[in-house]
Amino acid sequence: MKSSVFFAAVGAAVLLLIAPCAPSAAKPVVCAECVKANMQRLAGDELHGRGCGSEDEHAAARFLGEALRQSKISPAFGDGVYLQAVQLQTPTAAAVPKLEIVSGNTHLSFLQGQDIVAIQPPETLRAATLYLTDAKSATEAIKGKVVIYDSAFFDQPGIQALLGAGALAVISPLSDQNAQHWNELSTRSPGRTRVVGVESPEPAPIGATIYAMPQTMAALRHIGQGEAQLTAPRGEPRARTTYNVMGVLHGKASDADHHALLLTAHYDHLGVRNSVTFHGANDDASGTAAVLEFARILGQSARHRRTVYFGLFGCEEEGELGAQYIQAHAPMAISDLMANLEFEMIGVDDPKRPGALMLTGWERTNLGPALQAQGARLGPDLYPQQHFFRRSDNYQLARRGVIAQTVSAWPLPPTYHAASDDLAHVDLAFMNSVITSMVKPVTWLLDSDFQPQWLPGQKP
Ligand SMILES: [Zn+2]
Repeated sequence: MKSSVFFAAVGAAVLLLIAPCAPSAAKPVVCAECVKANMQRLAGDELHGRGCGSEDEHAAARFLGEALRQSKISPAFGDGVYLQAVQLQTPTAAAVPKLEIVSGNTHLSFLQGQDIVAIQPPETLRAATLYLTDAKSATEAIKGKVVIYDSAFFDQPGIQALLGAGALAVISPLSDQNAQHWNELSTRSPGRTRVVGVESPEPAPIGATIYAMPQTMAALRHIGQGEAQLTAPRGEPRARTTYNVMGVLHGKASDADHHALLLTAHYDHLGVRNSVTFHGANDDASGTAAVLEFARILGQSARHRRTVYFGLFGCEEEGELGAQYIQAHAPMAISDLMANLEFEMIGVDDPKRPGALMLTGWERTNLGPALQAQGARLGPDLYPQQHFFRRSDNYQLARRGVIAQTVSAWPLPPTYHAASDDLAHVDLAFMNSVITSMVKPVTWLLDSDFQPQWLPGQKP
């Protein structure tokens, strides 16, 4: 799951360790050993947290392609080709971004990572400051200003309102969540990564948001009217390659390919940051292992009516980059997708709804209730204020009209984007039970003529 503040080759002879599971003629059941082995491979030390565009991510992609092949899933990109390369261009900083404020004889200077975090700052910005404690008290005067918004609590809607009303930048106190991810935020690229061959899916941000440490906010509180200058010089863009992995199992109906189900997860995570490995066991080795398990089960069972694709996307954490590419360069016509289910963070049970899963965008389509009626332990998203529907790969396809939703257990566990998101903090027994609860509903969907639909006015 990407962060809410995002609006953010190994050698040829790689030894691929695939879960040692023999096909069974018996009723398909979740193979706990397979799930465990895949979790260990993906979230173990060897792949160093599968950072976006890294050699480790590429090694993970090859492991996944091989796992699909061994499950008798056909390659989606042509003869023997499970991997789709995606070129990325990421802006870089040539120097640490700096905010300077001059008022009379006072000259204050704040550094990124130390005093402030400017999110995707423009290269330069210079404007008069304006101090506010309440976004509702803003007048026309905020247009073209750098607003020092000294709110009593972190007020995201207020920040958005100020930017929407024409503020060039808003300096705001930190939220608790941003404080926890200070290092990650302050070392992020100064601009959005461009996926080569894809038009940018969202308009450029309307203004800059600058999060201020408490001491920074205190210093700004008494500064009076002044002039602010933000500088964030750029270096050469950084070129990287990520990979989408996809396989297909064609259905037996004559029109099977025109009503295909796409099961997905993202296999990348945060990689190594400041010498600390973020293993991403829950986010999203767990969803990846679930998709591999569906591939293993469906690959060894009798053919179903409808076609099913298995997609594992790279670079979700940096803005659903693999999924951005796939929606523009899919191996099938997008209109042939009957539905997409993304599996994200199903390794930690949510105390608010023990033993069960949630489906983002539950209220938008008729798919969740239909799966629930087939035994899926699936319910509505309990965290609508977090906008999770728009925070995973599913959204890139939903924007194209596909019924695309994300299945999660607890989307905000204490391990979220923390170094503690490792194998020791996922509950494999819970994972096996929730994957099991989805097997029958998924196979039902593949054999039925049920047509998932958007509810009136709910298509994004
Ligand atoms: Zn994530």
